[in-house]
Amino acid sequence: MKLAERISQVTPSITLAIAAKAKAMKGEGIDVCSFSAGEPDFDTPAHIKDAAAKALAEGKTKYGPASGEPPLREAIARKLKNDNGLNYKAENVIVTNGGKHSLFNLMLALIEPGDEVIIPAPYWLSYPEMVTLAGGTSVIVTTTAESGYKITPEQLKQAITPKTKLFILNSPSNPTGMVYSPEEIQALAEIIVAADILVVSDEIYEKILYDGAKHVSIGSLGEEIFQRTIISNGFAKGYSMTGWRIGYLAGPVDLIKATITIQSHSTSNICTFAQYGAIAALESSQDCVQEMLQAFTKRRQVMLERLNAIPGLSCPKPDGAFYLFPDIRQTGLKSLDFSNALLEEHQVAVIPGIAFGADDNIRLSYATDMATIEKGMERLEKFVKTRL
Ligand code: GLU
Repeated sequence: MKLAERISQVTPSITLAIAAKAKAMKGEGIDVCSFSAGEPDFDTPAHIKDAAAKALAEGKTKYGPASGEPPLREAIARKLKNDNGLNYKAENVIVTNGGKHSLFNLMLALIEPGDEVIIPAPYWLSYPEMVTLAGGTSVIVTTTAESGYKITPEQLKQAITPKTKLFILNSPSNPTGMVYSPEEIQALAEIIVAADILVVSDEIYEKILYDGAKHVSIGSLGEEIFQRTIISNGFAKGYSMTGWRIGYLAGPVDLIKATITIQSHSTSNICTFAQYGAIAALESSQDCVQEMLQAFTKRRQVMLERLNAIPGLSCPKPDGAFYLFPDIRQTGLKSLDFSNALLEEHQVAVIPGIAFGADDNIRLSYATDMATIEKGMERLEKFVKTRL
């Protein structure tokens, strides 16, 4: 069959493919330690599930507005004001099928052939693919462990051309876990305003921070940057709601209206009763988030110590998210060979860094239980020994 040209330019998501493979192997009874997809192992907190179940029982089972249920849009606007200092109203918000869908809607509404989108690498693997599907061009700016895997203001400035439309900022970062300091965000904001480009701030990991790290939402730093900012966020990571598929995008009304038009012809509304669970997540006590964070904090400590004790691997300490991104250069393996061999020989699933534009690294998610972490690190150590 002759498929559309655009599909030949993109590849399937490796994170989802490896996670599915690890799950399938487990299903076959193979003892796999999976550090693949960033999916918290906790169940969704009970009060969130109860709120969705109540909405279901009450008959919230019909079509709703493509933009999202009005009380959820209002709750998100309130959250953005209270948590992030962003002055949005409900009309500035669209509810989407997860953070990924928010970004995809954004690219379709904003990017056209000839437009350039600046993406610091290592990057979350779907960013460039979405830009491609929208017909735009990704401008990848490589960062290193030495700069904390963060783009510098100078690098951003140099990457901007008359064709630049958008810069993608992701802090805390997937895959590195790095968090930009308030000063670093401020410096980037100044460049964005001076060049009069747009920034999408992917804040999906904003609640997962360690050692006193602070999340600053770039749009909160003044009116000029606020006008050029779009926020992408969702419920999957902070509230362990990955399978619910609820995210949101917030930004200038004309842009949000454009994404609602797209959504009205693609998905229509997000599952109606599920949105009532999301309202409960935002409007109830945030203790559940803190409990999960405590568990992540312990896991991060153990995994990082174990990883850095393995001769041949080295990994900086991340301040956020739930990923470690060690350098594997000393093994002499590139990331795909490393990951494939590790899965085949020791049944440990990790994501090859090449998926994130960094072939000398692998990504491990520690959004899994401590027993798996302990066992997986033992296996990883044995594997790396065979390759040194
Ligand atoms: N965002 C998560 C990850 O990077 C889930 C998988 C995906 O959406 O790519 O592992």
